[in-house]
Amino acid sequence: MGTRPAKIAGRGRDAGKTKICPQAGCNSVAMTAVKFVRQTQPSGIFWLCDKCGHEQPTR
Ligand SMILES: [Zn+2]
Repeated sequence: MGTRPAKIAGRGRDAGKTKICPQAGCNSVAMTAVKFVRQTQPSGIFWLCDKCGHEQPTR
């Protein structure tokens, strides 16, 4: 009794959270999840850095 399942919070791996830009020079800038639909590159949700424009798949 009294035991309830611990809820493990994701650590910045999944969409819905923020991610920090890995680029040198803006390593504490939060990236925003943006959905891209395009043909020459994979579509989907990517993290986009406001500062340097770096993008990265959310998976
Ligand atoms: Zn950046």
